[in-house]
Amino acid sequence: MEVLLLRGVYMDIWYPLIKKVFFPYMELVKGNKIRKKLSYLKQMERKSYEEIKDKQQADLKKLLLHSIEHVPAYKKFKKLKKEIEANPYEALKKFPVLTKKDLMGAPDQYLSGHVSKYKLIPNLTGGSTGEPVKFYMDRETVEWYEAARWQGLSWREVEIGHRSVMIWGSPIELNKSQHQKYALKEKVLKNRIIFPAYDINPDSIENYVKTLHEYQPKYIYGYASALNIFAKLIEEKGLEIQLSLKAIISTSENLYDFQREQIERVFRCPVVNEYGARDGGIIAYECPHGSMHLTELNAVYETIDIQSKGEVSLGEEGSLLVTDLHNFVMPRLRYQVGDMVTKSVNKCMCGRNTSILQSIEGRVDDTFIAKDGSYVHGHFFNHVVRTTKGISQFQFIQHTPKTMSLKIVKGPEFAEQEVLDVVSKIKDKMGNHEIDVEYVDHIAPSKSGKVRYAIREYPLN
Ligand SMILES: [Zn+2]
Repeated sequence: MEVLLLRGVYMDIWYPLIKKVFFPYMELVKGNKIRKKLSYLKQMERKSYEEIKDKQQADLKKLLLHSIEHVPAYKKFKKLKKEIEANPYEALKKFPVLTKKDLMGAPDQYLSGHVSKYKLIPNLTGGSTGEPVKFYMDRETVEWYEAARWQGLSWREVEIGHRSVMIWGSPIELNKSQHQKYALKEKVLKNRIIFPAYDINPDSIENYVKTLHEYQPKYIYGYASALNIFAKLIEEKGLEIQLSLKAIISTSENLYDFQREQIERVFRCPVVNEYGARDGGIIAYECPHGSMHLTELNAVYETIDIQSKGEVSLGEEGSLLVTDLHNFVMPRLRYQVGDMVTKSVNKCMCGRNTSILQSIEGRVDDTFIAKDGSYVHGHFFNHVVRTTKGISQFQFIQHTPKTMSLKIVKGPEFAEQEVLDVVSKIKDKMGNHEIDVEYVDHIAPSKSGKVRYAIREYPLN
């Protein structure tokens, strides 16, 4: 409906209205301070790394002192009080790593006894594997997440109120009055229309492109895979894109180079990677120099070895731990979000002085341990098998660190030699353990409906 209303309207009247009237009014009514936080973050990003760290350290100290005082799960760490006051970073390392399982096992233990229940905002992590984790935030936390996103967008000259298109799953199931409220919010606060990702196909693509041209968004926001399909269909249909986009923001999934290239080719504008997690906020944002800047004023980020749990050095890959600095209603210290990342030893040359990520490798669950202790990522197996012609489906399983098997569904061009080659490449990478090869008719999907091509059956801790 909103699209119809706006058809043919090229000048965006909503942008100045939202920027100057609706957004400030919303902040006033709700008592929000997103714009204030945004301007603070933008001012801080240009300060020296030492100044950024000083602020982060002061916030961490406050959070840790609050946690040992008011949070049941952390009260037993009261003995660390002096150390927290002297060196909060060192003290933080003495707290246990918090896994999703720990949190799900005893959620109430992490709720601060010091806050009113009315201030709690529930959040449920999505996650393709495992059960959802429910946790709570307060308005302050949400505002810092929002401000961090606007900060990243501001690097592309995208401002609050700019018109956007979001390629997304369907808006959550809403009843009629909720739906009206949602539509109103989309219009007067977000200036955004949503293209449902599940509806984008060869038959509908022309209509969506028509809407895009009429709507003339300043930026597009969506999952990497959905943006990629969108661009691919446009290219396949030979449709011409006439937009002046500031950026396309890719979020929620790993953004592969081939996806970025295709999207940039079709839309002729930069693709920007946003790295966030529903249970970790906005973790990093890509700057115009191509670096992923960590949001170090929102959280402390550590990387640890997935087996020993010890801290890894900069430049080495590890499991990411997030300590959200602003969530005082349910502090989660050293929360393991489940991603493998590498923090860079370098700083970016763009003039923003926060730390940067060198790479985001993938999920901890899709990480395997080779005989020499090194990490091997799930996509390695996919890469090896993709070069063959005769294997139509496969699944690699590491049962224990020393026992592995490979299930194979033969394709029409099957050749024994290709399997031998695959096995030898896997052995080279994983170490010289035996690999049982089993030929099967099909490979059943997991509970989530996805067929996983590599599975580690033993836990790492
Ligand atoms: Zn940069």
